[in-house]
Amino acid sequence: PATVIDGKLQSERVAERVKTLASELNLQTGKKPGLAVVLVGDDAASQVYVGAKTRKAAECGFHSVQHTLPSDTTEDQLAELVDQLNADPTIHGILVQLPLPDGINAPRIIQSISAEKDVDGFHFLNVGMVGVGEFANAFVPCTPAGAMLLIEQIHGRDLSGLNAVVVGRSNIVGKPMANLLIAHNATVTVAHSRTKDLPGTVRQADIVVAAVGRPHLVKGDWLKPGATVIDVGINRVPAPDKGENKFRLVGDVDYAEAAQVAGAITPVPGGVGPMTISLLMANTLVSAYREAGLPKPSFSLDK
Ligand code: NAD
Repeated sequence: PATVIDGKLQSERVAERVKTLASELNLQTGKKPGLAVVLVGDDAASQVYVGAKTRKAAECGFHSVQHTLPSDTTEDQLAELVDQLNADPTIHGILVQLPLPDGINAPRIIQSISAEKDVDGFHFLNVGMVGVGEFANAFVPCTPAGAMLLIEQIHGRDLSGLNAVVVGRSNIVGKPMANLLIAHNATVTVAHSRTKDLPGTVRQADIVVAAVGRPHLVKGDWLKPGATVIDVGINRVPAPDKGENKFRLVGDVDYAEAAQVAGAITPVPGGVGPMTISLLMANTLVSAYREAGLPKPSFSLDK
């Protein structure tokens, strides 16, 4: 059976390092890394994510602010808040939680966040730097960055000679994940909804990253024996065994099957999810160090 990659443990290691570096920043400069999280409307999943991010920032010793706006907030009102946060010297990271309510032009709002405070890595400047492999000043999106650290735990930083298959081509996960894998010398295939032979494609992979949003799509017999499986999916499915109207979270990989074939696998929950939040803290910390003119801390995890 596969080695279970403990994303919770690794995310705690990242968060501990963030905490230490935040207190060093504070000793040297009197400043704290500042993270502003903006939530518009009452989407239940978003409320959970935003609460977790705000709490984690406080735990890391950050200046942590949450702006909760009603669902009838106008695009101009939201743009004005982003402008204020862009200009606020105590804020180093701005995160506007997606999805935004209908009627708000989400791309316009996201691109109005200053690239220097875009700790989600969605600004075109950051997307472009990641695309050309110019990582010194780029914010890498948190989920693929976290997934990459987990892959590093198994394979190290140099993936030369390894085939990686990313299932999913979203701008938030699939595409940046493919760029990171290329930067680490993997041979990368990006599969998606129009891929003809998904099982056959996945079977080529030494490393599979599933970022699809389809519960249990990837089956055990799709995997090359010994493959490393990184399951990004978070899907809420009914769990009648837990009671009426109960749900559980499952990934995009059929875990029970895959764990019999894979060499290493991330669980859901407890895999990529917690890494995402810790990498958001790491990006905010890096932003604060940059603003203070200090050298960029690195977040590679040693074995
Ligand atoms: P998305 O909906 O933007 O993209 C899904 C991708 O999957 C698309 O590129 C599509 O082409 C592909 N796809 C859809 N059906 C397919 C199929 N049958 N076969 C092959 N490919 C198919 O989703 P996303 O934002 O990239 O998120 C993907 C999953 O990851 C979701 O479950 C989401 O909840 C989860 N997620 C988790 C985290 C985290 O912190 N762990 C962060 C972001 C997203």
